[in-house]
Amino acid sequence: MTSNVSSDRRLIIAIDGPSGAGKGTVARALADRLNYRHVDTGAMYRAIAWKAIHERLDLQDEQALATLASRAVIDVSDGAVVVDGHNVKQAIRTSEIDAAAAAVARQPRVRQVLIAQQRAMGAQGGIVMEGRDIGTVVFPQAEIKIYLDASPEERARRRATDPAHAAGQGASVVNDVASALAERDRSDSTRTASPLALAVDAVRIDTTGMPVDEVIDRLLTLVNDYRG
Ligand code: C5P
Repeated sequence: MTSNVSSDRRLIIAIDGPSGAGKGTVARALADRLNYRHVDTGAMYRAIAWKAIHERLDLQDEQALATLASRAVIDVSDGAVVVDGHNVKQAIRTSEIDAAAAAVARQPRVRQVLIAQQRAMGAQGGIVMEGRDIGTVVFPQAEIKIYLDASPEERARRRATDPAHAAGQGASVVNDVASALAERDRSDSTRTASPLALAVDAVRIDTTGMPVDEVIDRLLTLVNDYRG
């Protein structure tokens, strides 16, 4: 099944969907299998939120946040998350940053800065980029667009038991995580700038109850089918 995944054509693969739909695990595995670069754009919004809090900025101050975003040097290569020399890989996985990143991501001028960086990273292809607006806004021309979804209950359960996420410490009750997720979903899908939405040409996969290997196989099949 994976026989022709090493073809020369370097594609852009966009993976969008709400929090807890399994984008991270699947995008990383797919990029590994294809020998592509993996970029987690959520980590970029989180890194800006971390830096804004660190500098005590007002999270509603669009001008200040946009200036910060345009000056910040963010590195999200190879699973690292470094902003201006600070390794924030763990620090950005907290409930405080969950909410702050969603607030920062509502600001159109912050998005403008990060979207330009994301486009530059994917310009040569050979990339699996995950986020909320990759197939709709960042790379509407992406060859493969996936929208991963799962039931709210399953997404909350995954998030509450995710060892990478500190939510498990303070808010280990799945109900707390569920209501925070619902609020973030609401914020991400109702904002004016690049709301979370299913691209018309995306393949939606509901991962509820689906083993992760099966999801990865579905994606590899899509890639192989695309390449013919
Ligand atoms: O995916 P993750 O939960 O790490 O993303 C953090 C926040 O960043 C999301 O709640 C969303 O508001 C924002 N985001 C976005 N556009 C993206 C990726 C993430 O607005 N492409």
